[in-house]
Amino acid sequence: MTVNGRISVDEARELWLHASDDELKDLAGDVRARYHEPNHATYMVMRIINYTNVCVAQCDYCAFYVLPNQDGGYVLSREDVFAKIDELLDFGGDLVGFNGGFNPRLPLHYYCDLFASVRERYGDRVEFYALTIAEFVFLADRAKLSYAEAATRLRDAGVHWVTGGGSEILTEDFRSRHAKWKYTVRDYFEAQRAIVESGMKTTATMVVGFDETLDERLEHLLRTRDFQDACLRDGYDGLFSFLCWTYKPYGTAFGGVEVSAQEYRRHIALSRIFLDNVKHVRTSVLTQNEDAFLALDYGADDFDLPIEDEVTQKAGARIDLDLEGLLAIPRSLGYTVEYRRAERPAALTA
Ligand code: SF4
Repeated sequence: MTVNGRISVDEARELWLHASDDELKDLAGDVRARYHEPNHATYMVMRIINYTNVCVAQCDYCAFYVLPNQDGGYVLSREDVFAKIDELLDFGGDLVGFNGGFNPRLPLHYYCDLFASVRERYGDRVEFYALTIAEFVFLADRAKLSYAEAATRLRDAGVHWVTGGGSEILTEDFRSRHAKWKYTVRDYFEAQRAIVESGMKTTATMVVGFDETLDERLEHLLRTRDFQDACLRDGYDGLFSFLCWTYKPYGTAFGGVEVSAQEYRRHIALSRIFLDNVKHVRTSVLTQNEDAFLALDYGADDFDLPIEDEVTQKAGARIDLDLEGLLAIPRSLGYTVEYRRAERPAALTA
C-alpha cells in the first residue's frame, strides 16, 4: 500500500476501518519521511503553568475547574509563576505553556502584564505558549475586542505563540454535547486565523477518547487540514504542528474509560497520513506515558517531556520526572533524539 497524494475523508475512513496496524504504520512512515529523517525525533522539556483554575465554561470532561464563587479557586501571582519557571530551568527545560480557566475576574491587562514580565525577566532563555485559542476567544470576548485587536495587544506584550489547545473535537455537535459555553468551532478558527495574521505562531491539537464518533474525528482532521491549506495559500506558515492527547476520565462529570495505546497509535498514524500539509506530528507523553514513544513508529516525530500540568493530572495523568529514563525509551526503539527550542516567529524577529 502507498499514499501518492492526498487522501479523502472516505479513504481515511476506509483506512481506519480496514487497514492493519502495519499498513497504517508504513503509510504514516511514508508521509513522515517527506518532512523528517527516519529514526530521528525531537523533543522539548516543558511545564504547563495553570495560572488560574477558576472557570465558567463548565466542560463536562474537565476535572480541573472551580466556579468563581466556589472554594478552592486560585490565581497565581507573578512570583508564583517565576518560581515555577525557575524550577523548569533547573530541569533543563525552556518552554512554558500557560493554561487556565475562563476566569471572568481577570482583565486583559492581567495577561499582558504577566506575559510582558516573563519576557522581560527571561528574555529568550524561555519561550512560552501564552494561552490556548480557547482562552484567547474568552479573553477577546470579555475585553470586547475583535480577535485582531486582542492578538495585537498580546503580541505587543511580548507573546510569540498562542497555541491550538482547548480544541478537543472540533465539531459543533461535540461542543454542544460537552462544552456548550466554551465557543463554537467557527469562533475557534476565526480566532486562530487572527493569531496567524498577527504574525504570532500557532499549533493544532486534538483530544480523542470521549464519545466522539469516527466521523467527528475525521471532521476535526478535515477542518484542520482546510485551515492549513488556506494559511499556506495566503502566504502564512499556519500550523507549526499537530499534537493529539487522549482524554483522561478520572474525576470528571462525564467519566468514561481511556482509549487503548493501540487505538492512540492508529489515530496518530491516520492523522499523519491525512494532515499532509502539517510538518510536525507530536505524540503525547503527558497522557500516554511510555507508550507515547511507540507512536514515533506511526508517524510522530516530536514530543514534550512535561514536568507539570494540573489540568490533566487532576483527571488522572501521571507525570514522570525521570527525564533521562524517559529518553532512554525512544533510544531503545532505534531513534536519535535531539532537543528542540521553540522557534521565534520570523515576522517578529528584529
Ligand atoms: S476544559 Fe478549560 S474551559 Fe473547559 S471547564 Fe476546564 S478549564 Fe474551563
